[in-house]
Amino acid sequence: MNEKRYRILFKRIVLLLLVVLVFLFNTIAYTNSDKILGNIAMGDNVTTKNVLVSVKYIFNELGYRMIPDYKRNLLVFSNGDNKIILDIENKKFLVNDDGVNIEVHTDIQTISRKYYIPLNILSKVVNTNKINFAEDVPVLMYHHLLEKKDIKGKFVNDSAVIAVESFNQQMKILHEQGYTTITLDELEKYLKGEILLPEKSILITFDDGYKSNYVYAYPLLKQYGFRATVFIITRYIPYHMTEFNPEKLQIISWQEIQRSRDVFEFASHTHDLHRLNDKNISYVICKDKEEVFRDLKFSMEILDTKYLAYPYGQYNEETLNILRKLGYTLAFTIKPGKVKPGDDLLQLKRIRINPNINIWRFKKIIGVK
Ligand SMILES: [Zn+2]
Repeated sequence: MNEKRYRILFKRIVLLLLVVLVFLFNTIAYTNSDKILGNIAMGDNVTTKNVLVSVKYIFNELGYRMIPDYKRNLLVFSNGDNKIILDIENKKFLVNDDGVNIEVHTDIQTISRKYYIPLNILSKVVNTNKINFAEDVPVLMYHHLLEKKDIKGKFVNDSAVIAVESFNQQMKILHEQGYTTITLDELEKYLKGEILLPEKSILITFDDGYKSNYVYAYPLLKQYGFRATVFIITRYIPYHMTEFNPEKLQIISWQEIQRSRDVFEFASHTHDLHRLNDKNISYVICKDKEEVFRDLKFSMEILDTKYLAYPYGQYNEETLNILRKLGYTLAFTIKPGKVKPGDDLLQLKRIRINPNINIWRFKKIIGVK
């Protein structure tokens, strides 16, 4: 009888010890992963587990050169002394550590044509402690572009018209300062805490979808390897391309949309609600909700997008409900400010670039020191 009781007691003690061990192990593992991420500046709402980072950004920051080997599907990173190979097909890093070859298996995701890798895996391959990531991201808002000589007549003092010369200067600064232009997909994942972005990240947006974006911004952005988003009013998109006329307000055609997708991403600015009633209330607000629902659904389907910019920055609770129902995941206002993880994804802030802005002010706005 006694022996049996002792046996039960012994079993219980062993079980209890096991529970305590599992708890301790988890705590230590968690503390360690926190330690690795200790130096990273991030919003409070970001979960650090399995967060992804651009592999190119990490190696670039650490002074490695990236040499792609397309034939064997490898990325070779070299800094003179060290060579680290990322085998994309077999999902592993090959590291030579003091003559010993080590394999580190990894998850790889392609997001916006970039390879993203879990930070905790990268930190096994290189020292990621000193690398800085974005705490917040400026989203720039542009509209129409015209060469200085063409800013005349109705375009004079129009706050939506930026001189091409100024735009070029601003893009040059971003390039010189080493900015990375991100896509909406990357922004969504960043805001949800799924990825970390380079410290100097920026999203460039154009509202309304003017042909001038294609004529002036597209070649320049392409030259810098930049990307940008155009929020377009789908009903206005002409099928055929017409000659550019700086005296008119023309919209990017379907042909131009197809031709510029390597740089531009097209998102919704509604299908046909970019209008105001006689009290300056946007159709998004004053039209009945069934009509707004249908319009936003249509535009979403035409462009195959989950992203919207509110015309005139106007929306209300009902609009937010409609967007949620339709599955829009990001929506942009014209409230000024930068965006960061934890923000309301359907009420994102943007920074409007005005025509009279000088270089000093532009640098200050985006946060160049
Ligand atoms: Zn607009």
